[in-house]
Amino acid sequence: MYLVTSAKESLNESFKKKFKDVTSLIDTKTEYQLSSRKFKKRKTQIFLNKEIVFGKNKTVMMAGPCAIESESQVMKTASFLSERMGVKVFRAGAFKPRTSFYTFQGLGVKGLKLLEKVRNEFGMKIITEVKDTTHLDVVAEVADIVQIGTKSMYNFSLLERCGKINKPVLLKRGFMATVKEFLQAADFIIANGNPQVILCERGIRSFEPSTRFTLDLGCAALIQGISHLPVVIDPSHAVGVASLVGKAAQASAGLGVDGLLVEVHPNPVNSKSDKDQALTFQQFEQLYSSVKRISKAVDRVLI
Ligand code: PEP
Ligand code: MN
Repeated sequence: MYLVTSAKESLNESFKKKFKDVTSLIDTKTEYQLSSRKFKKRKTQIFLNKEIVFGKNKTVMMAGPCAIESESQVMKTASFLSERMGVKVFRAGAFKPRTSFYTFQGLGVKGLKLLEKVRNEFGMKIITEVKDTTHLDVVAEVADIVQIGTKSMYNFSLLERCGKINKPVLLKRGFMATVKEFLQAADFIIANGNPQVILCERGIRSFEPSTRFTLDLGCAALIQGISHLPVVIDPSHAVGVASLVGKAAQASAGLGVDGLLVEVHPNPVNSKSDKDQALTFQQFEQLYSSVKRISKAVDRVLI
């Protein structure tokens, strides 16, 4: 457990007695500390297994549909990604934080069961979103990486609870959040005991409505330098248009990011959420081969 204090206070005997279970004291010198390179110089590496590692010259491809819709949709996508493309991490949401009440909200626990099926049948690792603290335990049981969505970056109870699980957490940058606020959110997870945090840039809201959000590549590059945490990019939500996702993914890979999160659907026009940005299998194949070449050019291996 970490406790934030000043060095002076921690020398006090009554303080030491009161907090005998505290193993680390942090003398806060910066506004975000635990996620900062000033606090930890060496890049954090997060292992899903020996091969799938974030923070170690690899571009980890995480792909799949926005939402789990049905068994056939999930299995078709997983079979294509795993058997044809060799993708090792499957993404899909069971608990969807939709802006409109009138749209598909996800299959919930039924959807998690289908993710288990993907793991058992294809041996893929699973990343899926947790919407609030009420279902964190069931999500964490199935997920190899727990995803915190852009709208939840300021859900402090959720950040704290995710600090108490023993699973990597992919934290998306709030679409209205500054870099400082993003890293401060990461600190809530780390301070509560979980150092396995992956930062994800997924676009911010700007004055420009032509793309869904504005992919902030400059700040993604900045974060790679000022934080020791692995940095990944989600080009799908950033641009929101399938025809631009490949280009955004290429640019992201060119930064030498630790991974990409990409939405793919067997039949995008029938997708129950985020259909405009969902790639067809063919579009995904094109993205994959170009990203592979770019990753190599920046001394990374696409896995
Ligand atoms: C998602 O990954 O499907 C998602 C909801 O992403 P975001 O939180 O970035 O909108
Ligand atoms: Mn989505």
